Amino acid sequence: MTERGHIIFLGAPGVGKGTQAKLLSRRLGLPHVSTGDMLRASVLAGTEMGRRAKAVMDSGALVGDDIILGIVRERLAESDASSGVLFDGFPRTLAQAKDLDAMLAESPLGIRAVLHLVLADEEIVERLSGRRVCAQCGAIYHVRFQPPKQEGVCDRCGGALLQRDDDRPEVIRHRLEVYRRDTEPLIAYYADRPGYREISAEGDTETVSKRILEEVGEAHG
Ligand code: AMP
Repeated sequence: MTERGHIIFLGAPGVGKGTQAKLLSRRLGLPHVSTGDMLRASVLAGTEMGRRAKAVMDSGALVGDDIILGIVRERLAESDASSGVLFDGFPRTLAQAKDLDAMLAESPLGIRAVLHLVLADEEIVERLSGRRVCAQCGAIYHVRFQPPKQEGVCDRCGGALLQRDDDRPEVIRHRLEVYRRDTEPLIAYYADRPGYREISAEGDTETVSKRILEEVGEAHG
Protein backbone atom coordinates (compact mmCIF):
# COMPACT_ATOMS: atom_id res chain seq x y z
CA MET A 1 0.00 0.00 0.00
CA THR A 2 1.41 3.43 -0.91
CA GLU A 3 2.63 5.49 2.02
CA ARG A 4 1.11 8.85 1.22
CA GLY A 5 -2.40 9.95 0.46
CA HIS A 6 -5.86 9.99 1.93
CA ILE A 7 -7.59 7.13 3.72
CA ILE A 8 -11.33 6.55 3.38
CA PHE A 9 -13.40 4.63 5.90
CA LEU A 10 -16.45 3.02 4.31
CA GLY A 11 -19.21 1.18 6.09
CA ALA A 12 -22.71 1.53 7.51
CA PRO A 13 -23.44 3.95 10.35
CA GLY A 14 -22.57 2.22 13.60
CA VAL A 15 -19.78 -0.09 12.38
CA GLY A 16 -17.23 1.91 14.36
CA LYS A 17 -15.79 4.18 11.67
CA GLY A 18 -15.54 7.15 14.05
CA THR A 19 -13.86 5.20 16.85
CA GLN A 20 -11.40 3.51 14.50
CA ALA A 21 -10.71 6.64 12.47
CA LYS A 22 -9.79 8.52 15.67
CA LEU A 23 -7.38 5.74 16.71
CA LEU A 24 -5.76 5.44 13.30
CA SER A 25 -5.51 9.21 13.03
CA ARG A 26 -3.42 9.33 16.22
CA ARG A 27 -1.33 6.40 15.08
CA LEU A 28 -0.54 7.79 11.62
CA GLY A 29 -0.49 11.46 12.59
CA LEU A 30 -3.06 12.31 9.92
CA PRO A 31 -6.04 14.57 10.66
CA HIS A 32 -9.38 12.87 11.23
CA VAL A 33 -11.91 14.47 8.90
CA SER A 34 -15.46 13.54 9.85
CA THR A 35 -18.06 15.44 7.83
CA GLY A 36 -20.64 14.47 10.47
CA ASP A 37 -18.51 16.05 13.25
CA MET A 38 -17.99 19.15 11.12
CA LEU A 39 -21.74 19.48 10.52
CA ARG A 40 -22.48 18.96 14.23
CA ALA A 41 -19.93 21.70 15.04
CA SER A 42 -21.80 24.07 12.69
CA VAL A 43 -25.06 23.12 14.41
CA LEU A 44 -23.54 23.98 17.82
CA ALA A 45 -22.06 27.20 16.49
CA GLY A 46 -25.53 28.14 15.27
CA THR A 47 -24.41 29.06 11.74
CA GLU A 48 -26.90 29.29 8.89
CA MET A 49 -25.48 26.08 7.41
CA GLY A 50 -25.78 24.37 10.79
CA ARG A 51 -29.38 25.43 11.18
CA ARG A 52 -30.31 23.98 7.82
CA ALA A 53 -28.23 20.83 8.25
CA LYS A 54 -29.74 20.00 11.67
CA ALA A 55 -33.22 19.27 10.32
CA VAL A 56 -31.80 17.01 7.61
CA MET A 57 -29.48 15.20 10.02
CA ASP A 58 -32.18 14.64 12.65
CA SER A 59 -34.33 12.92 10.03
CA GLY A 60 -31.50 10.56 9.06
CA ALA A 61 -31.31 11.88 5.49
CA LEU A 62 -28.15 13.11 3.77
CA VAL A 63 -27.05 16.72 3.59
CA GLY A 64 -26.70 18.01 -0.01
CA ASP A 65 -23.57 17.06 -1.96
CA ASP A 66 -22.71 20.71 -2.69
CA ILE A 67 -22.54 21.64 1.00
CA ILE A 68 -20.47 18.57 1.83
CA LEU A 69 -18.06 19.07 -1.06
CA GLY A 70 -17.65 22.71 -0.04
CA ILE A 71 -16.63 21.84 3.52
CA VAL A 72 -14.32 19.04 2.34
CA ARG A 73 -12.61 21.28 -0.21
CA GLU A 74 -11.98 23.91 2.49
CA ARG A 75 -10.71 21.31 4.93
CA LEU A 76 -8.26 19.83 2.40
CA ALA A 77 -6.85 23.30 1.75
CA GLU A 78 -5.69 23.58 5.38
CA SER A 79 -1.97 23.08 5.95
CA ASP A 80 -2.29 20.01 8.20
CA ALA A 81 -3.95 18.12 5.33
CA SER A 82 -0.86 18.28 3.13
CA SER A 83 0.20 14.67 3.84
CA GLY A 84 -3.31 13.29 3.60
CA VAL A 85 -6.32 12.94 5.87
CA LEU A 86 -8.52 10.18 7.19
CA PHE A 87 -12.06 10.56 5.91
CA ASP A 88 -14.85 9.28 8.14
CA GLY A 89 -18.39 9.51 6.74
CA PHE A 90 -17.23 10.92 3.42
CA PRO A 91 -17.78 10.20 0.57
CA ARG A 92 -21.34 9.00 1.09
CA THR A 93 -22.77 9.22 -2.44
CA LEU A 94 -21.40 8.35 -5.87
CA ALA A 95 -21.47 12.05 -6.77
CA GLN A 96 -19.24 12.83 -3.76
CA ALA A 97 -16.82 10.01 -4.67
CA LYS A 98 -16.54 11.21 -8.25
CA ASP A 99 -16.05 14.82 -7.18
CA LEU A 100 -13.38 13.75 -4.71
CA ASP A 101 -11.55 11.98 -7.55
CA ALA A 102 -11.83 15.13 -9.66
CA MET A 103 -10.52 17.24 -6.75
CA LEU A 104 -7.58 14.87 -6.22
CA ALA A 105 -6.72 14.79 -9.93
CA GLU A 106 -5.38 18.33 -9.39
CA SER A 107 -3.51 17.39 -6.20
CA PRO A 108 -0.24 15.50 -5.55
CA LEU A 109 -2.08 13.18 -3.15
CA GLY A 110 -4.31 10.30 -4.18
CA ILE A 111 -6.28 7.76 -2.17
CA ARG A 112 -3.94 5.52 -0.22
CA ALA A 113 -6.55 3.15 1.19
CA VAL A 114 -10.28 2.50 1.27
CA LEU A 115 -11.08 0.57 4.43
CA HIS A 116 -14.51 -1.01 4.30
CA LEU A 117 -15.69 -2.06 7.77
CA VAL A 118 -18.24 -4.86 7.64
CA LEU A 119 -20.73 -5.84 10.36
CA ALA A 120 -24.08 -7.69 10.55
CA ASP A 121 -27.21 -5.49 10.69
CA GLU A 122 -28.39 -6.62 14.16
CA GLU A 123 -25.01 -5.72 15.60
CA ILE A 124 -25.11 -2.30 13.89
CA VAL A 125 -28.46 -1.44 15.47
CA GLU A 126 -27.21 -2.53 18.90
CA ARG A 127 -24.07 -0.41 18.59
CA LEU A 128 -25.97 2.68 17.44
CA SER A 129 -28.71 2.50 20.02
CA GLY A 130 -26.19 2.17 22.89
CA ARG A 131 -23.80 4.81 21.59
CA ARG A 132 -23.09 7.86 23.75
CA VAL A 133 -20.90 10.77 22.71
CA CYS A 134 -19.12 13.34 24.86
CA ALA A 135 -20.68 16.74 24.21
CA GLN A 136 -17.36 18.39 24.98
CA CYS A 137 -14.54 16.35 23.37
CA GLY A 138 -16.40 13.99 21.03
CA ALA A 139 -15.13 10.77 22.66
CA ILE A 140 -17.36 7.82 21.81
CA TYR A 141 -18.73 5.31 24.37
CA HIS A 142 -21.23 2.47 24.43
CA VAL A 143 -23.50 1.77 27.39
CA ARG A 144 -22.60 -1.96 27.29
CA PHE A 145 -19.46 -2.45 25.23
CA GLN A 146 -17.47 0.62 26.26
CA PRO A 147 -19.09 2.17 29.32
CA PRO A 148 -17.50 5.20 30.99
CA LYS A 149 -16.23 4.78 34.58
CA GLN A 150 -19.06 7.00 35.82
CA GLU A 151 -22.40 6.84 34.03
CA GLY A 152 -23.04 9.84 31.82
CA VAL A 153 -19.59 11.39 32.37
CA CYS A 154 -16.64 11.37 29.94
CA ASP A 155 -13.54 9.59 31.34
CA ARG A 156 -11.25 11.88 29.43
CA CYS A 157 -12.59 15.39 30.01
CA GLY A 158 -15.52 15.11 32.46
CA GLY A 159 -18.00 16.32 29.80
CA ALA A 160 -21.60 15.11 29.65
CA LEU A 161 -22.30 11.99 27.57
CA LEU A 162 -25.30 12.37 25.30
CA GLN A 163 -27.20 10.26 22.80
CA ARG A 164 -27.12 11.76 19.32
CA ASP A 165 -30.57 12.84 18.09
CA ASP A 166 -30.15 10.57 15.07
CA ASP A 167 -29.31 7.50 17.19
CA ARG A 168 -32.97 7.08 18.19
CA PRO A 169 -34.44 3.75 16.94
CA GLU A 170 -36.82 5.22 14.33
CA VAL A 171 -34.05 7.34 12.81
CA ILE A 172 -31.52 4.48 12.89
CA ARG A 173 -33.79 2.45 10.59
CA HIS A 174 -33.97 5.28 8.10
CA ARG A 175 -30.21 5.91 8.19
CA LEU A 176 -29.57 2.26 7.34
CA GLU A 177 -31.97 2.49 4.37
CA VAL A 178 -30.21 5.62 3.16
CA TYR A 179 -26.88 3.83 3.54
CA ARG A 180 -28.05 0.86 1.44
CA ARG A 181 -29.47 3.08 -1.26
CA ASP A 182 -26.94 5.93 -1.53
CA THR A 183 -23.66 4.79 0.02
CA GLU A 184 -23.41 1.05 -0.66
CA PRO A 185 -22.84 1.65 -4.40
CA LEU A 186 -19.49 3.16 -3.39
CA ILE A 187 -18.22 -0.31 -2.55
CA ALA A 188 -18.37 -1.30 -6.22
CA TYR A 189 -16.87 2.08 -7.15
CA TYR A 190 -13.77 1.48 -5.01
CA ALA A 191 -13.52 -2.33 -4.91
CA ASP A 192 -11.13 -2.62 -7.86
CA ARG A 193 -8.59 -0.16 -6.50
CA PRO A 194 -5.33 -1.48 -5.08
CA GLY A 195 -5.87 0.11 -1.65
CA TYR A 196 -9.38 -1.33 -1.13
CA ARG A 197 -9.68 -3.63 1.90
CA GLU A 198 -12.68 -5.33 3.44
CA ILE A 199 -12.22 -5.63 7.20
CA SER A 200 -14.47 -7.34 9.72
CA ALA A 201 -15.71 -4.87 12.34
CA GLU A 202 -16.73 -7.66 14.69
CA GLY A 203 -15.20 -7.75 18.15
CA ASP A 204 -13.97 -5.07 20.52
CA THR A 205 -12.30 -1.80 19.58
CA GLU A 206 -8.77 -3.14 20.08
CA THR A 207 -9.33 -6.26 17.98
CA VAL A 208 -10.70 -4.25 15.07
CA SER A 209 -7.93 -1.67 15.41
CA LYS A 210 -5.29 -4.44 15.13
CA ARG A 211 -6.92 -5.73 11.94
CA ILE A 212 -6.86 -2.24 10.48
CA LEU A 213 -3.21 -1.65 11.39
CA GLU A 214 -2.25 -4.91 9.71
CA GLU A 215 -4.04 -3.85 6.55
CA VAL A 216 -2.38 -0.45 6.38
CA GLY A 217 1.01 -1.97 7.12
CA GLU A 218 1.38 -0.33 10.54
CA ALA A 219 1.02 -3.39 12.72
CA HIS A 220 4.58 -3.11 14.05
CA GLY A 221 6.52 -0.21 15.51
P1 AMP B 1 -22.18 10.73 10.76
O1 AMP B 1 -21.68 11.39 11.98
O2 AMP B 1 -21.09 10.44 9.75
O3 AMP B 1 -23.06 9.54 11.04
O4 AMP B 1 -23.13 11.81 10.04
C1 AMP B 1 -24.31 12.28 10.67
C2 AMP B 1 -25.23 12.91 9.64
O5 AMP B 1 -24.57 14.01 9.01
C3 AMP B 1 -25.64 12.01 8.49
O6 AMP B 1 -26.73 11.18 8.80
C4 AMP B 1 -25.97 13.04 7.41
O7 AMP B 1 -27.21 13.66 7.65
C5 AMP B 1 -24.89 14.09 7.63
N1 AMP B 1 -23.66 13.78 6.85
C6 AMP B 1 -22.42 13.50 7.34
N2 AMP B 1 -21.54 13.27 6.35
C7 AMP B 1 -22.24 13.40 5.20
C8 AMP B 1 -21.91 13.26 3.82
N3 AMP B 1 -20.66 12.94 3.42
N4 AMP B 1 -22.89 13.46 2.90
C9 AMP B 1 -24.14 13.80 3.28
N5 AMP B 1 -24.54 13.92 4.56
C10 AMP B 1 -23.59 13.73 5.53
